[in-house]
Amino acid sequence: MDLELFNTLGGRTEPLVPALDNTLRMYCCGPTVYDYGHIGNFRTFLHVDVLRRYARLRGMALKHVMNITDVDDKIIRNANAAGTPIHEYTAKFARAFFEDMDALGVERPEIVARATENIPEMTRLIERLASEDIAYRAEDGSWYFRIAKFPDYGKLSGKDLEGIEDGARVDVDEYEKDHARDFALWKACKAGEASWDTPLGCGRPGWHIECSAMAMKHLGPSFDLHAGGEDLMFPHHENEIAQSESASHVPFARHWFHVRFLLVEGKKMSKSEGNFYTLRDLLLKGYRASAIRFLLLSVPYRHQMNFTFDGLTESANAIERLRTFARRIETARADTSAHADGALSTLIEEKHRTFHAALSNDLNTAEARASVFDVVRAGNIAMDNATISPEQRTAVQQLLQDFDTVFAVLTDRDAESTRHAVEWAKSEGRDAEIASELLTTLSLSSEQIEALIGERNEARRRRNFARADEIRKDLMEKGVILEDGKEGVSWKRK
Ligand code: AMP
Ligand code: ZN
Repeated sequence: MDLELFNTLGGRTEPLVPALDNTLRMYCCGPTVYDYGHIGNFRTFLHVDVLRRYARLRGMALKHVMNITDVDDKIIRNANAAGTPIHEYTAKFARAFFEDMDALGVERPEIVARATENIPEMTRLIERLASEDIAYRAEDGSWYFRIAKFPDYGKLSGKDLEGIEDGARVDVDEYEKDHARDFALWKACKAGEASWDTPLGCGRPGWHIECSAMAMKHLGPSFDLHAGGEDLMFPHHENEIAQSESASHVPFARHWFHVRFLLVEGKKMSKSEGNFYTLRDLLLKGYRASAIRFLLLSVPYRHQMNFTFDGLTESANAIERLRTFARRIETARADTSAHADGALSTLIEEKHRTFHAALSNDLNTAEARASVFDVVRAGNIAMDNATISPEQRTAVQQLLQDFDTVFAVLTDRDAESTRHAVEWAKSEGRDAEIASELLTTLSLSSEQIEALIGERNEARRRRNFARADEIRKDLMEKGVILEDGKEGVSWKRK
């Protein structure tokens, strides 16, 4: 079974097969580091993370490039307002972005490329376009891309050129250009703005040229896949194609992967609506990073997703259930003599197949996760009746392992993410009370909890019930609930 993905270019679902040595060469548009990342941004990066993790699980090697846009209009405006040089201003938010990605368990791309460190690559690309009269210099020293020279313009988004010419301008800026629809490659320097002295003159790069230059630098003129949120399809990705293919004369990315937008409580997220959340906002409200990750992955990437706080609570409960199950299956007494329930073996096998079929079918994360919960349900019933066999246990653990390679929520790192958020909040003078409370309940690691349970078992064996009760009470205060069952003691977090 191939891994099939919807390709925005052409509008069809197609097998994703790397062109060279089974290595998936992919480029994902990274953040513009002028502020903290919001949960919409992270929806996109999380689904790209699932793509990388699943491709690897399917045996592909990865070469994934992501840019950091560290110079642009908003950055210049904000840095000037803060009275900070732009590199200092962006360094802070780039660092914060990677801390947030770590909290969410998003793997780092193999290559992270910063716009300001790749200016010569960009100017060379513009010079090449200029040599064919595709790029031209306007009177003020800015450079533009002549869209009329690229007949394929619009092939990704399906926008028709005439419509663009008559209608809204592609690139809204105040510079002089031959056609309203031409877009800026290079913006002439202005007082008070960051700029570079280059063969093109003094100025700074446009946003689109940045991605073309860095993608081709690291992945070559043709590569397997390009990703980003749906808002980037037009004009950003359309412009990337136009610039790159005009220079290289070969197809740029073969496969285009776009993640649909996240809504919050049914509305477009915006500061004025009061429904705009950064990851840090949610961590400070006492939500766990794993629950945020799992929720943002619960709806397949091509469907619009509506983020709700109820969803976040359900997601935390779902993870608790999975973690409890994973521990239970590890310690369950697998009965070698028990007559293995054939129906259970078939179910585990079938659901493991469904798990892969779902992810192979355009990364259907919802169906993949549902297949795991079907096994959790059946497995729990089997363990209640003590009918699980060693083979069944191994089969379940293999499924959980594949599941976690992609979803990455079983290992509990929530305390660490919340602790970082609390430290950051304190340094910024923000209220961290709720998150600090959560930290108390998350303060015990699984190992510490298990050690305490061992001590409690030992106390009970010695009939020291006072000590045993004390331990139960201590655990309860730290949010850990014990359940005495016939297979021994199990625990879960509140
Ligand atoms: P930016 O930093 O604004 O360039 O955005 C970084 C990434 O987040 C881009 O791929 C955007 O398309 C994506 N993005 C922005 N807002 C949302 C949203 N509400 N839902 C999903 N992705 C988004
Ligand atoms: Zn880009």
